[in-house]
Amino acid sequence: MECGAAMSEEAGQTALNAQERALVEAAHGAMANAHAPYSRFAVGAALLLSDGTVLTGSNFENASYGLSLCAETVAIAAANAQGRLRDIAAIAVTGGAMDDPMGSGEGSPVITPCGRCRQIIKEAQDMSGRRLAILCAAPDGSAVLRLTLDELLPHAFGPANLGIGPT
Ligand SMILES: [Zn+2]
Repeated sequence: MECGAAMSEEAGQTALNAQERALVEAAHGAMANAHAPYSRFAVGAALLLSDGTVLTGSNFENASYGLSLCAETVAIAAANAQGRLRDIAAIAVTGGAMDDPMGSGEGSPVITPCGRCRQIIKEAQDMSGRRLAILCAAPDGSAVLRLTLDELLPHAFGPANLGIGPT
């Protein structure tokens, strides 16, 4: 995996620093742990915490399809379980067909969080008090987009709508 290698803004891709490249590579590595026998679509996510710690998550499907968990949700729940929800600074996500993990046959589209995960990232961002960098990568590393939650989920519902600030 060479996520982030030789990327340029001119090509419509995001230039990544070394820490961001490592985060995308960690997300790619997490794809190998996906439990996705139904969709055969592996997704990996990696969180960068404020002290440099990286936590990963993989999609976790269930025979009762609707119970399946996304990689981003798993990673954020892992951070919460470690008492680190407020320490998340960035998240990377990538994914691809398990039978074609590098996406070589499909033009390697950039993977973005699903709608539910965007809402879960919103919770993490609000708790962190930071604007999270959300790195959305193609499985072969040919493209990475650095997005914000405002771009992914404008006019989001959050704790402020309930009159609640970060606790
Ligand atoms: Zn999701």
